[in-house]
Amino acid sequence: MSGARSALAHNYHPLPVEIASGEGAWVTDTSGRRYLDLLAAYSAVNFGHRNAELVAAAKAQLDRVTLVSRAFENDQLEPFAAELVALCGKEMVLPMNTGAEAVESGIKVARAWGYRVKGVPHDQATILVASGNFHGRTTTIVSFSDDPSARDDFGPYTPGFRMVPYGSAEAIAEAIDDTIVAVLLEPVQGEAGIIVPPDDYLPTVRRLCDEHRVLLIADEIQSGLGRVGATFACDLVGVVPDLYLLGKALGGGIVPVSAVVGDRDVLGVLRPGEHGSTFGGNPLAAAVGRAVVRMLATGEPQRRARELGAVLERRLTALVGHGVTAVRVRGLWAGVDVDPAVGTARQVCERMMAGGVLAKDTHGQTVRLAPPIVISEADLEHAVDVLEHALVPAAVPTT
Ligand SMILES: *Cc1c(COP(=O)(O)O)cnc(C)c1O
Repeated sequence: MSGARSALAHNYHPLPVEIASGEGAWVTDTSGRRYLDLLAAYSAVNFGHRNAELVAAAKAQLDRVTLVSRAFENDQLEPFAAELVALCGKEMVLPMNTGAEAVESGIKVARAWGYRVKGVPHDQATILVASGNFHGRTTTIVSFSDDPSARDDFGPYTPGFRMVPYGSAEAIAEAIDDTIVAVLLEPVQGEAGIIVPPDDYLPTVRRLCDEHRVLLIADEIQSGLGRVGATFACDLVGVVPDLYLLGKALGGGIVPVSAVVGDRDVLGVLRPGEHGSTFGGNPLAAAVGRAVVRMLATGEPQRRARELGAVLERRLTALVGHGVTAVRVRGLWAGVDVDPAVGTARQVCERMMAGGVLAKDTHGQTVRLAPPIVISEADLEHAVDVLEHALVPAAVPTT
């Protein structure tokens, strides 16, 4: 296990558990101890570890062809794009690999759209972003973060972004001028601690974008693809963005797959040679992505996240006032604010780990819960039992 002499860069502070295998909502460490995984790789494992359907799709493709680059076509990519646009109600897909690449690609598309379609003067395009945002770790993306640990010492920063308070449509109305090409938002902020904006926020932002001819870009990399009990968090408030940014669960927990999805009038601005990726849209990624889309097209994961989410919400709400100061739940996704009197969120996660449940703290006092959607109701109830015990420092169950 990693220690002081680890050869790994220290850009993470993992819980001291070394996982060797996984199945469904469960993982097993190198000593054979089993844990419930309540993080699901930040929602990249929405459909469970080694999901049989997804693994079968990957294995079948491994036996055919895995990478040809975009210099040639491959027989998985067009079907993947067609099936993904059908799921999203859009017309075009730009395939990439990681979430940050989808965000970067969305930014490039919005800028090109601004110059070529909206007529913004050259090099003036500006994108509105929200306080507390998390969109990834590249130099451009950290340029518009307000998290000091993500940003400090990584300048100089990329210009062309303006930050407004998350959840305030008035702030967006005030900030929109002729240089604004897009508003880039997480419909629910994940890394910030599952922050849910007021119900009328996104609908109002959508209306403002329409009035001022500004693109609404929804970063659904963590919130999308079933997690919130709908295909997209935008669906919960009846909003359709101009661009969806997708990642994480799109790769089924097997390979990195991300995408920008939108209509032709926006994504169609890209011309050959202007953007690309060696691995983006590779046949293995596309085959796995197709299996993910097939699963979501049934509506089953969304229904399950909605139903189990109601269980989770009921259980967590009962903890408020008992070591928990607030909870925010959307589908099978929750931010639990830990009362400082019982410790930090990290300490609660360490106690949960001792009780056989893995979860992740964020921003000091928040425990984030995002179990694989395939988790059984009994396992979910058990996980909340363990959380409940972890909120009482003296009473950690050892199972
Ligand atoms: C994880 C995440 C990203 C970045 O994805 P990577 O695959 O880690 O680059 C971007 N936006 C949101 C909302 C995320 O949760």
